[in-house]
This record gives sequence, C-alpha cells and structure tokens, in this order.
Amino acid sequence: MQHNWSRYIRHIVGGLIGTTLVGLYFGHPVYGLTIGLVIYLWWTLHQARRLVQWFANPDGTDEAPQSIGLWGDIFDHLHKLHQHHLRTQDRLRAQINRVQESTNAMRDGVIMTDSRGAMEWWNGSADYLLGFRRNTDRGQYIHNLIRTPAFKAYFESRDYREPLDIHSPAKPHIRLQIQISLFGDDDRLIVAKDVTRLFQLEQMRRDFVGNVSHEMRTPLTVISGYLETLVDNADDLPPKWRRAINTMADQSSRMEALITDLILLSRIETGDQTVDDALTDVDALLGQICHDARALSGDKAHDISLSVSDHRLLKGDQSQLRSAFSNLIFNAVKYTPAGGRIVVAWSANREGAHLSVRDTGIGIDPVHIPRLTERFYRADPSRHKDTGGTGLGLAIVKHVLLNHDGNLDIRSRIGEGSEFICHFPRERLVERIPEPTG
Ligand code: ADP
Repeated sequence: MQHNWSRYIRHIVGGLIGTTLVGLYFGHPVYGLTIGLVIYLWWTLHQARRLVQWFANPDGTDEAPQSIGLWGDIFDHLHKLHQHHLRTQDRLRAQINRVQESTNAMRDGVIMTDSRGAMEWWNGSADYLLGFRRNTDRGQYIHNLIRTPAFKAYFESRDYREPLDIHSPAKPHIRLQIQISLFGDDDRLIVAKDVTRLFQLEQMRRDFVGNVSHEMRTPLTVISGYLETLVDNADDLPPKWRRAINTMADQSSRMEALITDLILLSRIETGDQTVDDALTDVDALLGQICHDARALSGDKAHDISLSVSDHRLLKGDQSQLRSAFSNLIFNAVKYTPAGGRIVVAWSANREGAHLSVRDTGIGIDPVHIPRLTERFYRADPSRHKDTGGTGLGLAIVKHVLLNHDGNLDIRSRIGEGSEFICHFPRERLVERIPEPTG
C-alpha cells in the first residue's frame, strides 16, 4: 500500500512537472502548472462522477468502472468487494431457497408470523391444511384466518409448552395439533400437524370403552341384584356358601363402581356435556361432599374441616365438579389413618379460584406424582388393596379440570400427608345475583 501510495504521488508530481515544463517551453511555467492542476482536478471529478453513477445504479449488477492509478485501484477494490458481496448474496439466496423447498416438502403446515400474528411466510401444506391463500393472505393476522377462540387465546398466552388441538378452519374433518415456538424478534413459528388419524383412533378407543361399559352395566345390575337378595337371606344358605356369596357381592359392587367410573370418564372425555352454560354453587357443593365424607370416615373419626373464603359462583357443570371434588375429598379420607386431619379450602385470588384438599395421611412418593392422573395408576398397589378404589378417580379429576380450563397441582410427602389443589381461571368466577328482598 505504502509502495502504491508513493507511486500515485510520483505520477501526479511527474504529470505536474511535465505540464510546468511545457509551460516553461512557452515562457509561462505558472500557466503550465495551473493547467496541469486543472486537468488533474477535472480528471479526479470525472472519476468521482463515474463512481457516484456506479453507486447510484439501483440493481447493483453493473461492473465497476475501469481506470488507472489511484482511481483504478479504488475501482478494482470496489469491484472485488462487489463480487464477494454478490457471491455471498447468491449463497444465502440458495440456502433460503433450499430451506423453503424442504419446508414446502413437509407434510406439516409451517407458518411464520410477527409478534402480533401478521403472516409473513407459510408453506404449501399450510395452504392445504388451513386453507390459506397465497395471493391475499400475506400480512393478514393469523387469528382472523384461524378464528377458533382457543387458538387466539393460545397464541396470546405465550405459554407454548403444551400443543393445542383444534379442527382445521378450512376442512373441519381434519384435526390439527398446533405448536408455536418463539424466534427472532418475538416472532412466531407455527407448526400445524395433521393428527386426524390419531384423533380417530383415540375416539374409537373412548367409544369402545364407553360402549362396553354400557353393555356390561345391565347384566351386572341383574347379578348384583340376585347376590344382594342371597346376602339378605344368607341365614337360609348352607354355611359353606355364605362366605362365597358375600365375596361375590363385594366384588360385583366393585365392578359396578368401576363401570360407573368408566362411563363417567368416557362421558367427560368425549366432552358431550357443555360445561360453560351452567353455574355451580361451590360453597353448597363442598358442604354436601364434606358431609358425605364424614359419613364415609365413620369409625375412623377424621377431623374434616371446610373453609370457604369466596362465595361467588363457578361457571361449570355441577355433576362433573361434584365427581372431581368428591374424588379428592374421599381419597383424603381413604388414604388418611383414623383420627387424621383433612382440611378442605375454597379460595380466590388474582390468578383465579382454588380448591385445596389437604390431609395428614400416608402421603405419596414424589416419583409417582407425575403419573397419578393416569387411568388405573396406583402409587403403591400393595398399600391400597382395601380402599375399594377404582383407580380412575384422579383421571376423572384431570378431565373435569381440562373441561373447565383448570389444572391440578399435587404436593405430598410420604408419611406426612398430601395436598391436591385444583386451579380454575379467574374468568370462571361469577358474582351471585342478590335474592330479591320483600
Ligand atoms: P384409587 O381409586 O386407587 O384411589 P385414584 O385415581 O383416585 O385411584 O388415585 C390414584 C392413586 O393416587 C391412588 O391409588 C393412591 O395411590 C394415590 N392417592 C390419591 N389420593 C391420595 C391421598 N390423598 N393420599 C395418598 N395417596 C393418594
């Protein structure tokens, strides 16, 4: 560079000496120098103009101008930089095209939106699965195209740990699982997976369990009826039959309880009942359940207390809520040794409404807690042989809470007791309409 720089200076000085000598030849060396300087200035301005024109070229694909000396080297450097820039651009474009091609080949719908949901890019499967139109939907807000309220709530929640299942807005027979990820500047990447087949299989399983349970109920009722009659007349039976008949009666009532819970669970799971139209007086409901719990406790004489600090109504289905709450409270009775304490508390705060059922019972090993709401999961089967439970209680609680946009929290220490807390969103609490007076 240093070498080049002295070369430029030598050329300029040489040029100026040349014009001065020509001026000297004509007897006017100063004119010669001035003309040399003017020519040099004009040439410099001319090269600068060419450079500005090249910069101004909007498509930027023209070759850089050619020249000699200092300007020649400037143009060469710029030309190299420009070529490098073009090559990088081509490489990036090829990479973007490749990513777009591969996402287009995916069977899942992929959509990119900004933080407010304005659609920026989506693949072909999103067109098919969600009915987007390439020409008109760019820039539209996604919740105007997928109008399911659950989707809007999910999009705005920013809590995307669990996916959301919805029906396709364009093809209602398609069931979609939506998963959102945050990226870039609070932008969203939305993936819509077609889970119709899985959904149908799940539906078939639920229908099958529901139907089988229904079909078994009638013959079982007949058998239980006869067994009860036999138990009532046990004195007339030969002694060796009495024990057998009693055991059969016990087992048939267990089976009846199981069938009842299976039917209830399949009804709650299929979401046949709409839970949003009804209002439940939780205060009165808990009063009744605690009364029944004291009867269930019987000789075990548990100390069962109820505290209600919010008297608003809860938007939700009373019979479903009764099943959920009674399962939790009766479990506390079943799994707490005689004389233990059970505290039932209904309260509300800014987050929502909460039912806590706390006991001083046998407790649960933390390894079991994540799986407790699975059907027929038991923390320690050997300890629960005599509780008469169906193993479906907490599965029922979980589905009732899902239907009511709630969730279940379980805290427990083995040997010290357990606390089961049902959380409901604040929007489900409704003021009581005051009774007209006079
Ligand atoms: P079950 O009919 O066996 O009670 P649930 O679904 O109601 O079935 O409960 C699942 C398991 O969770 C129970 O088998 C028991 O191991 C455990 N469990 C539930 N509630 C309690 C509790 N209050 N204290 C200790 N263990 C409990």
